[in-house]
Amino acid sequence: MSPAAKVAETLKSRRNILLLNHVAPDGDSLGSTLALARVLWARGQRAIVGSADGVPAVYRFLPDSDRVLTIIPEGEAFDAVVFMECSSPDRAGALATRAAGVPLCVNIDHHVSNSGYGDLVVWDTEAAAVAEVVYPIIRALHPDLDRGTAECLLTALLTDTGSFRYASVTPRSFQLAAELVAAGASPGAVYGQVYENRAAAAVRLLGMALSRMVVCEDDRVVWTTVSQAMLKDAEATMEESEGIVGALRTIRDIQAAILFKEEPDGIHVSLRGVGGVRANVIAEAFGGGGHAAAAGFTVKEPLDDVVRRTLAVVRGELGAAL
Ligand code: 5GP
Ligand code: MN
Repeated sequence: MSPAAKVAETLKSRRNILLLNHVAPDGDSLGSTLALARVLWARGQRAIVGSADGVPAVYRFLPDSDRVLTIIPEGEAFDAVVFMECSSPDRAGALATRAAGVPLCVNIDHHVSNSGYGDLVVWDTEAAAVAEVVYPIIRALHPDLDRGTAECLLTALLTDTGSFRYASVTPRSFQLAAELVAAGASPGAVYGQVYENRAAAAVRLLGMALSRMVVCEDDRVVWTTVSQAMLKDAEATMEESEGIVGALRTIRDIQAAILFKEEPDGIHVSLRGVGGVRANVIAEAFGGGGHAAAAGFTVKEPLDDVVRRTLAVVRGELGAAL
């Protein structure tokens, strides 16, 4: 039996399942947990979706996103917990503690940095999105794919592939997309909700971040910052910094694009690697993780120090990528 079939079989007999997203959840994590929850609910099973950081406004169009909990009631006892694309359990943030004592831990991921924890592991680093990993589990749990569930999975796939542009995209990504569209999900509608639904403040913040970007290392590295002061000036939230690092990445011949975000709990660094530069290797040097193309980490240090130390590690990775 494949690991996915085994997970589906095991989940079928569980009475109360906790599905956990990672902190700062993205479309892939949220879309995949909601899709899995929806088929469990359709089967009449009890499941709770937890997200320590809730659901960013941009993903509130996802069906059942209003059922995602940031705090799990104390009285809930679970007999299975599913970690969705959490390379280690602590990536679930404050909710990770709710996995303690749960008799079955399922680890579903596609990040290279996954530590392999859990009783059942469905881990496929060839998957462009965790949606590709969770899909066979969903099909094994429920024969019909309804439109809402297809929309959740298409959002996951579309966002994690940069709208099917990243090197991680394979024929399987398009096969899945075809099945989701056949089930009624609309790529145009999902794209519109996620990428053409921005507050003016978010676009203003993008402009501010781009106007202060620094290109260095023979035009191979670009970085910029979003400070709390900039958020105030733009009347934006940090959630609205989404898309900035992607814009940096579009520069010709760039190999590393870096965004330093000044968060209340430290500096969060978003990294994008192109042309042989492995973003995850840079992030791992600071205790973070991710993929070769996209990774991140958080450190509690003054911004200037974080920039200097990050660029030093980036330089090393540039040398390795030559
Ligand atoms: P982003 O820069 O968009 O926040 O994250 C890019 C990728 O890196 C995502 O796949 C995300 O899950 C991963 N990532 C971001 N921050 C961290 C971190 O602190 N630890 C780990 N393990 N992965 C991270
Ligand atoms: Mn993902």
